[in-house]
Amino acid sequence: MNNEVIFTIDGVDVSAEKGQSILKAAEAAGIYIPHLCAHKDLIPHGSCRVCTVLINGRPHSACTQPVSPGIIVDSECEEVNNIRKTIIEMLFVEGNHFCMFCEKSGNCELQALAYRFGIFAPTLPYLFPDRELDASHPEFFIDGNRCILCARCVRASRDIDGKNVFQFVGRGINKKVTVNSSSGLSDTDMNKADKAADICPVGAIIKKRVGFAVPIGKRLYDQKPIGSDIENKERSNG
Ligand code: SF4
Repeated sequence: MNNEVIFTIDGVDVSAEKGQSILKAAEAAGIYIPHLCAHKDLIPHGSCRVCTVLINGRPHSACTQPVSPGIIVDSECEEVNNIRKTIIEMLFVEGNHFCMFCEKSGNCELQALAYRFGIFAPTLPYLFPDRELDASHPEFFIDGNRCILCARCVRASRDIDGKNVFQFVGRGINKKVTVNSSSGLSDTDMNKADKAADICPVGAIIKKRVGFAVPIGKRLYDQKPIGSDIENKERSNG
């Protein structure tokens, strides 16, 4: 049986496997589609919508939408990039993000996307939500101020670590990440080897005592913009 699906992204023919998501098919073809909640090791969640693309003219999240033969996907166009830019701005103003004081600066996917989209100061009003910091664990702290509710930690802990350390509580602006213990992170079985310990795209889950081991200016996205690795692969594939 032929499992190949051919479709186009921004006018380029892409060959994918039946059942593959548009995001994964694009990456395999060397085309970067910006994303935040999606991660190669996790079940797609489709919550952040940064990977929004137009499929035959209608918006869909590329991480959850499977490929279909002949669909026309638009990713790098003004309409889509304006949607992504607005989402990224909203993520900044809905939390309390102070990049200059954050250990994740330079390795933060949200910050890197803001630079990629030329966002230097949000145009939307800041909400300054009341969020908590849990520093009770000897190895990690979790700072809800920086959380973008991507659910990577929730999925990693549940599906890979088999621990269910994290969960969400509340709704709307009151939604926040928390741990499955009334007395905090120290009362969970989270440890350094957990996938959930390394998967946060922002500075919400941080390991203690390793701060600034890599100097500012020498970190991942200080060296190259987010998505460059995939785009360079496209160029090297010719
Ligand atoms: S703590 Fe990090 S990984 Fe977990 S939901 Fe918040 S931003 Fe996502």
